[in-house]
Amino acid sequence: MKKTLLSILLICFSIQGFSQFSNYFENKTLRIDYFHSGNFIHEYYRLDELIEKNVWAGSKVNLIDTFDYGKFRIMMYDTASGILIYSRAYSSLFAEWRTTNEGKGSCGNFSETVLIPYPKNVVKLVFQSRDSLNNWQNVENMIIDLKKDFILKPKQNKFEINALHFSGESSEKLDIAIIADGYTINEIDKMKKDFEKFNNYILKANPFNENANKINIWGVAAISAQSGITDPIDTFNVKTAVGCSFNTINSDRYLMTLENKTLHDALTNVAYDQIIIMCNTEKYGGGGIYNFYCTAAAGNAVANFLIQHEFGHAFAGLGDEYYTSEVSVEDFYPLTVEPWEPNITTLVNFEGKWKNMLNKFTPIPTPATEENKKIIGVYEGGGYMSKGVYRPYIDCTMKSVKYNAYCPVCKRATQWMIDFYTK
Ligand SMILES: [Zn+2]
Repeated sequence: MKKTLLSILLICFSIQGFSQFSNYFENKTLRIDYFHSGNFIHEYYRLDELIEKNVWAGSKVNLIDTFDYGKFRIMMYDTASGILIYSRAYSSLFAEWRTTNEGKGSCGNFSETVLIPYPKNVVKLVFQSRDSLNNWQNVENMIIDLKKDFILKPKQNKFEINALHFSGESSEKLDIAIIADGYTINEIDKMKKDFEKFNNYILKANPFNENANKINIWGVAAISAQSGITDPIDTFNVKTAVGCSFNTINSDRYLMTLENKTLHDALTNVAYDQIIIMCNTEKYGGGGIYNFYCTAAAGNAVANFLIQHEFGHAFAGLGDEYYTSEVSVEDFYPLTVEPWEPNITTLVNFEGKWKNMLNKFTPIPTPATEENKKIIGVYEGGGYMSKGVYRPYIDCTMKSVKYNAYCPVCKRATQWMIDFYTK
């Protein structure tokens, strides 16, 4: 009986969601390119271009972001009614750069992109940023009237799209676009083998293996003028399709691109929710930012781990559970604030984390002993800090170089996110 009632409620909710989508949106995407500028203290947004994409890949039911992760958030309001009709939170390279010494002193300017469903009517966009207590603050408002504003058609390219894994219509599935970087026209065979490897690395790891029927994976065969990946420390500099480079923000193994518009232009012909950049290099490296994109070195011996770890950041908002590394971030998590990542805690608000997964006899903090190896607990050390930040399991793919070893908390957070995209 209870189950029937629940089913009816869920059906009602779904119908409401679908009708909300068609009331407010066309089945298209509005790509908003803007400049995000400033430093540790100040922050500015300036609109760059509005670009129309002919399909919407995101959910048509779950239009409001319920996770409360990320550093930034875009809120879209229907101006006639004042109703919130869409929201999405994310992080970006600007958020990381502004915490560095350079970002504390000078002013940076980063191109960023958000994809939102294409509004039928006049809407107000509110760009929000977290303050030092992790509360959302409005930073910029924009009125968008697509009947009056200048809307560009996307730049065309001839990059072939390979359906690596297809399970159904994009708006009902999690769509992952894997785009190649650093592969020349003579390396297409290698690129296709690497696409297959990445496809398997994702689909064979838990919990993605149990959700294969909810996922589409697309390989975007972007062709680079030169082979390999730029590595400033080695003074190796190549022109590649989306411009990835090691040593991003002065961290040698941090492999990202600052060519945001080039990246999104290269993805014109694919409907996607998440972006993975597959880098043609053997050198250890990668990076992943929540709802932004992630990268991994395809030729490295632990590429399977790299892709699962970095995709954990980009897709499920997972934090790093390690705390001994060369990452040059001090006091990354203030101990008086609960971090937004689902798999680390300062115990400021542990109720909102994995407390409901603990056995009632498990002590807080939990000693990292051999007998607790398979026990969900509260282990001190995580988020680059050995004291005051806690992780849920002694070991995990988010802590050590281990493929297919997400801890139960990371698995649960990943499952929540898969469900969000596929309902
Ligand atoms: Zn974990």
